[in-house]
Amino acid sequence: MNLLTGEWIPVQHEGVFEHISLKALLTQDEDWQISLPRDDMEMACLQLLVSLTQVLFIPDNKGQLVEHIAQPISESDYIAAIESKQDWFELDHPQHPFMQIRGVKAKELTDMAKLFAGLTGATSSAFVNESGLAGQLCPSCTAMGLFNQAANCPGFGGGFKASLRGDSPITTLILGSNLRQTIWRNVLCKKMLDVSMPWFETARNKSPNWVDLVKEKENIEAHQTGLLRGLFWQPAHIELIKGDGEGVCDCCGQQGECYIGFKKEKFVYEFKGVWPHPHGPRVFKVARGEREEKFSSFTTAAPSWTLLTQFLIRKEQEREGHTPAPVVSQARQMDVVNRRLYLMVGGYRNKQASILERRHELFNIAREWQNNDRQIERIVDTGLTYRTELRKKLFGFFKATGASLQDQAEHRFYKQTEPLVHGMLRNMDFKESKAAFSDYHQQLREATHNIFKQVTEPYQNEPKMIKALAIARRGLEKSLNELN
Ligand SMILES: [Zn+2]
Repeated sequence: MNLLTGEWIPVQHEGVFEHISLKALLTQDEDWQISLPRDDMEMACLQLLVSLTQVLFIPDNKGQLVEHIAQPISESDYIAAIESKQDWFELDHPQHPFMQIRGVKAKELTDMAKLFAGLTGATSSAFVNESGLAGQLCPSCTAMGLFNQAANCPGFGGGFKASLRGDSPITTLILGSNLRQTIWRNVLCKKMLDVSMPWFETARNKSPNWVDLVKEKENIEAHQTGLLRGLFWQPAHIELIKGDGEGVCDCCGQQGECYIGFKKEKFVYEFKGVWPHPHGPRVFKVARGEREEKFSSFTTAAPSWTLLTQFLIRKEQEREGHTPAPVVSQARQMDVVNRRLYLMVGGYRNKQASILERRHELFNIAREWQNNDRQIERIVDTGLTYRTELRKKLFGFFKATGASLQDQAEHRFYKQTEPLVHGMLRNMDFKESKAAFSDYHQQLREATHNIFKQVTEPYQNEPKMIKALAIARRGLEKSLNELN
């Protein structure tokens, strides 16, 4: 199967499920939607489509990009664009198959499920997936799994390298009105690339690392790594193995040739610097005079809104800061102010090689978001402040009594307030925000009070704890009053 010419994209349109080609998707204007059994695979499919389109077409400027969003491209433009690259995207190529190496030495076959993050080895597998999803996979699901594993997941463990962005980076993409427009909204134009990846022109025609192989123990510099090479970086040596005859794909149900496993082999190299991935927000801090930069990731169970400012707003402070993904920065500069921002956020939370949970969600942010950083920060920070006060007062109660309630309270807080925060972002009229913020405070305050009451309920009548509880309650009351 060839990703540039084959019909592999699983889509749905008016209840009909089919596989279409990238050419059909970019040259026609149908209302297709990606259709897969897992939300993270759908996002991986989209990210793969965006990455393919990005390396085929780099619009010169905003005007050209707007044109691409509005109008399908011509078939002849598509054919001309794929001509020099077609060979690199063939899943079964005899010499350099897509994101694989021929002749991988491995004693045994690895199960296909290992290409689907979190399917096996997760501490909460039942939560992460349905069982029996990947014994054998069709070429389409395999290509998406291969790409997702390499770009978005922790390494296989045992010395295997993780993705260019680290163990489990967060990906942010912009949602458009249909699939074709969504793809173009996440393609960076030349002007944007000049800013985010100034060396991209010189490294533009470098072949991917399954064609031009990385040498054992090679030192690779981020600023010599081109767009194609970085977007499709394969950190491990992998070789897919096909089954005999036909089978039914355990993921999408398609019948045909299937892969039944893969060989994998680790290899060592040093990647120096941070490659400015178009789809990933980054954070930095300065420690002992050195700036340490890395990609945003989910490191706690806190919901995505707690990190929203990292996804949207550039912040350069002396000791710390963050930079949104270039695709978000482009939307900020390019979009008309009366357009809402539909931001897809996806990522995994891992502990070493295993996935603890996956997060894939959509933020719908009110128009004029570009001009209202302060207010967006205020929405997030206000939520965080109420959480912190609740935790602090319960921590005081814990110190006095030994009853540890702060973690379960925090969990409840996130659960109860998540719709509030999303509602605030969605319905905000940034020009007339006073009443909305006052209402927001009121609701956060109520939720905080209720949670405090719920978690301390069992201790209301314990004589030894009544005093500590009263102190905590009064303390909370006082600090919430100050917040309002
Ligand atoms: Zn499949």
